[in-house]
Amino acid sequence: MNSNIARRLKNLPPYLFLEIERTKRKAAKLKRNIIDFGVGDPDQPPPFHIIEALYRAAKDPLNHRYALGEGMLRLRRAMADWYKRRFRVSLNPENEILPLLGSKEGIAHLPLAFLNPGDYSLVSDPCYPPYKTGTILAGGRVYSLPLLEKNDYLPDLKKVPRRVLKKAKLIYVNYPNNPTTAVADKNFYKELIEFAKKNNLIVLSDFAYSEITFDGYRATSFLQIEGAKNVGLEFHSLSKTYNMTGWRIGWVCGNKNLVSALAKVKSNIDSGIFIPIQFAGLAALEGPQQHIQKMCRIYEKRRDILVEGLTSLGWQVKRPKATFYVWAKTPAKIKSLDFARSLLKKAGIVVTPGVGFGKYGEGYMRFALTLDSERIREAIKRLRRCYGNGFRS
Ligand SMILES: *Cc1c(COP(=O)(O)O)cnc(C)c1O
Repeated sequence: MNSNIARRLKNLPPYLFLEIERTKRKAAKLKRNIIDFGVGDPDQPPPFHIIEALYRAAKDPLNHRYALGEGMLRLRRAMADWYKRRFRVSLNPENEILPLLGSKEGIAHLPLAFLNPGDYSLVSDPCYPPYKTGTILAGGRVYSLPLLEKNDYLPDLKKVPRRVLKKAKLIYVNYPNNPTTAVADKNFYKELIEFAKKNNLIVLSDFAYSEITFDGYRATSFLQIEGAKNVGLEFHSLSKTYNMTGWRIGWVCGNKNLVSALAKVKSNIDSGIFIPIQFAGLAALEGPQQHIQKMCRIYEKRRDILVEGLTSLGWQVKRPKATFYVWAKTPAKIKSLDFARSLLKKAGIVVTPGVGFGKYGEGYMRFALTLDSERIREAIKRLRRCYGNGFRS
């Protein structure tokens, strides 16, 4: 049967974590007490008024039909108002904003609107996987932009060869960054916009962690920089800001011609977001925002416990300014996947090996901070017990 599978599916990068997931499931069955830093999925619930808005809208019989493709205008207005309040960016809700079934959906479908077979996407490595897989599924090619610690995990745009630039259409950036936790400032975006103009590229900024920031740091939006709207789009999501990962609602905003091309793709694939979820999204964006600060303090505290614990064990870890991850150097000369296996087997701890995000992620491990402080303290204890201060598998 395997031979029936289309080449584009076979071309996707291999899924590296099957074995770890299998071991994890086996361990769960044996009731082994696993500490899971693997999946970046918030453990806190959405604020109650959002759940109530869903419930209220779901009780109305009129809200169970197909949603209109481009989302309720009220919702698009709320998205525009939110951007205005938060970033002083003006967006026209009529044609510069498009709600998505979660930002992953839009990110993965976007290449269908712009890539012809053989065209390149410039994609950070390591990265959130849909930039690559969306490109491959659309028949495009991926050119990796290494994100290196010595460059503060920003891509070195000058290093992209001319032959690639000639066939490149898209460039994906993501700051605050998953998995490296790096952030970008105005100067980086200015350089990026110049680069995009010069090479006729579409910039795609994935801004999922815009609100998950610490120590007084506030993230910059790509759209705040002059000229951004001429060259690109920004993807936003309610998943991390409002703890709504399972709900599937996000949006893309920016250049209206680019927005309308993605809308055309989507009109042929999905039939919009369930109307009660649109009402809940409206409640999230228009309602009280205090929980965001509280949530960030929770992540900040967990971050400190983990960073201090790992540092005391001799790991090299920087304290992130944003995202709910910690990106740590593997503490020994061992492949990140082997190290992840060892952590699971010896200590019952799940951590994502950096190589799972691309080959330049090798040498690092990603810890998600979506579990409570007690579990993090327990993990540090286990690490000390299982490995002492020397790390051998
Ligand atoms: C979590 C995440 C998203 C958000 O995905 P949704 O589909 O909106 O839930 C997007 N980009 C990155 C880098 C993420 O980590």
